[in-house]
Amino acid sequence: MRVVIIGAGLAGLIAAREVHAAGADVLVVDKGRSPGGRLATRRVGGATLDHGAQFFTVRSPAFAKTVDDWRERGLVHVWNHGFSNPDGDAPDGDSYPRYVATGGMNSLAKDLAVGLDVRCSTMAFAVRRDAETGNVSVAIDDGTSHDADAVIVTTPLPQALALMIDGGIELDETLFRTDYDRTIGLLVRLDRPPSLPSSGGVQDADDVFSFIGDNVSKRVSAEPGVTFHANPAWSEAHWNDDNEALVAQLATAGQPWLGDATIVERSLKKWRLATPRSIWPDPCWTTANGKVIMAGDAFAGPKIEGAHNSGLAAAHTLLA
Ligand SMILES: Cc1cc2nc3c(=O)[nH]c(=O)nc-3n(C[C@H](O)[C@H](O)[C@H](O)COP(=O)(O)OP(=O)(O)OC[C@H]3O[C@@H](n4cnc5c(N)ncnc54)[C@H](O)[C@@H]3O)c2cc1C
Repeated sequence: MRVVIIGAGLAGLIAAREVHAAGADVLVVDKGRSPGGRLATRRVGGATLDHGAQFFTVRSPAFAKTVDDWRERGLVHVWNHGFSNPDGDAPDGDSYPRYVATGGMNSLAKDLAVGLDVRCSTMAFAVRRDAETGNVSVAIDDGTSHDADAVIVTTPLPQALALMIDGGIELDETLFRTDYDRTIGLLVRLDRPPSLPSSGGVQDADDVFSFIGDNVSKRVSAEPGVTFHANPAWSEAHWNDDNEALVAQLATAGQPWLGDATIVERSLKKWRLATPRSIWPDPCWTTANGKVIMAGDAFAGPKIEGAHNSGLAAAHTLLA
């Protein structure tokens, strides 16, 4: 069986590993320069910062199995058991472990990609179904087309629609009514440690920030570095602001959280498709003939765990 998977984020990589382990010939393509999608880690000077997903929790047995493996191999560790309140004066930990990847979130994607045929900087631009045979193929941006027995599409839904709209594939249009919240992030390298609460992070910090995370506390960075994520309302309202103005506004809003530390370097990251606003009721979606399957965090929950479980569901649907 020849399977093409579009998207090397967590959903695509988990699906790829499962289908590959079952003996299929799997090709994964991703438009990004490296695998991971929203599992993203960036260097700013000597600091290393997660700039997409910040941490994860484990609620389902399927994800727990993967996380146990990651823990045993030293890829993840428990960061804390809940975040301090915005005033930072009283921990509100709920005892539920928050995990982080020791090498940064992107290291999990790199690990999952080992042994797979993952082609990065490779953009799929069409998934087509042959009207006579029902077979599917994926056209990619180097002009080649790859025939497949099945295709698993794990891009965010608006991108998936763009790939399939003219491909003769029967689509459930309600899938594509999902819009996504945006996130504007600012990554800062500091001259000294920030004075964030001892948990290392603050959720729903104030009117601007939905999350502030200390990458040294996460053991991701050797040098002081903090990730600021603006909340969806602020990100939407300021989306079209000039980038320099955005950096200045976010740095000013963030400074009170840093204590005496001074920002020595900064980097802006805008996530247009950060978080799906609604979730499909099933963990993946498939065409009637089973040849095109869609998966990702819009299916099993808008988090790392959801992306993982959706990728797994896509693989199991295909292999059933
Ligand atoms: C700012 C931010 C903060 C977050 N914080 C958390 C958190 O703290 N905890 C948590 O659990 N989750 C968090 N999340 C959510 C989590 O990151 C996602 O749910 C998860 O990573 C989604 O994985 P995915 O595989 O479904 O999608 P993605 O990671 O988006 O993967 C899709 C991939 O498809 C590729 N692609 C798109 N179009 C094409 C194309 N035409 N051809 C080829 N490739 C294509 C993309 O490059 C991408 O790599 C956060 C997300 C963001 C953006």
